[in-house]
Amino acid sequence: GVVSVEMEGPNISSVISGWFSEISPMWPGEAHSLKVEKILFQGKSDYQNVMVFQSATYGKVLVLDGVIQLTERDECAYQEMITHLPLCSISNPKKILVIGGGDGGVLREVARHSSVDQIDICEIDKMVVDVSKQFFPEVAVGYEDPRVKLHIGDGVAFLKAVPEGTYDAVIVDSSDPIGPAQELFEKPFFKSVSKALRPGGVVCTQAESIWLHMHIIEDIVANCRQIFKGSVNYAWTTVPTYPSGVIGFMLCSTEGAPVDFKHPVSQIDESVRPLKFYNPEIHTAAFSLPTFAKKVIEAK
Ligand code: SAM
Repeated sequence: GVVSVEMEGPNISSVISGWFSEISPMWPGEAHSLKVEKILFQGKSDYQNVMVFQSATYGKVLVLDGVIQLTERDECAYQEMITHLPLCSISNPKKILVIGGGDGGVLREVARHSSVDQIDICEIDKMVVDVSKQFFPEVAVGYEDPRVKLHIGDGVAFLKAVPEGTYDAVIVDSSDPIGPAQELFEKPFFKSVSKALRPGGVVCTQAESIWLHMHIIEDIVANCRQIFKGSVNYAWTTVPTYPSGVIGFMLCSTEGAPVDFKHPVSQIDESVRPLKFYNPEIHTAAFSLPTFAKKVIEAK
C-alpha cells in the first residue's frame, strides 16, 4: 500500500509499498530506503513534520521533514563522535552548550564527562524533545542528568544573548541547512559561537558529507578560518542511515591555549555505560581525509 508522508518543504520523501525513501534536493538522484514495519507517530510542529517509524533492520527511526535524524542502531556513531571529539580534546571541560540535539543523545554523551558542571541545550522544537522521550528512551535518557538545562528556542537568538567567554565547548547538533537550521551554517552564527567560547574553547558542528556537500563544507571551512584563530579541522564518521553513509564535523578552537584536536587528552569513564563506537584510535583516525576532500579543505 501507499502511505504518503505529508511534506510541504522541498523534501519529498515517502513511504511506498512499505519502504521509506529519503528524497531531497540535498542529494539529487539518489534515495536511501528502509523497510517500514510500522509508522508509530506522525505530527506537524510549528517548525517541521515529525515522524517515527519502526524499521525492519535499524530499530526505531526519527524523521524530520522527510530526513532521517537518527536510528536506534547507528545513533551511537554520530552522538559519541560529535561529543567526544571536542570534549576529549580539552582537559576538564566544565560549561557546555548544545544547539539543536533535541533528541537528547548528545546530552547523554556529554554527561559521561565528570568535570562538566553545566549542560545547556537550546532546541527550537519542543515536539522533537517530547517524541524522543516517548519513543527513544535510550537516547532521551540524556535529559535525566541534573546538570542539564533545556531552553526551547532558536539557537541563533540564544547564542546572541550569551555573555562573552561563557562556555568551554559548544556542540551544534543541527539538521540540514534547509529548514529551521539554515542560519546555523552561516557566518554570523559562527561569530556568536566564537564570542560565547572562552579563550582556547572548542566548537564541534555537524558539517555534512564529503561525498555530497563539498561546496557547503568549503564555505564552512572558509568562514571558520576567518573566525576561529586557534585551530580549524574537519573530521568524519560513518553513519549508515545518513545520505552517502558518512557525516562530517567541523572542529575549531578560539585563540588561547592551543588545542590539538587530533590527539585526545582525556578518556571516557565507561563504568556506567560502555561506549559503542568512540575510542582514542578512531578519534585520531577521524581527522584523516580522503585525498579529494583534503585538497579542497586544506586549500581554504
Ligand atoms: N542527534 C541527531 C542524530 O543523531 O543524528 C541529529 C539531528 S538533531 C534531531 C537536529 C535538531 O536541530 C532538530 O531537533 C531540530 O529541531 C534542531 N534545530 C534546527 N534548527 C534549529 C535552530 N535554529 N535552533 C535550535 N535547534 C534547531
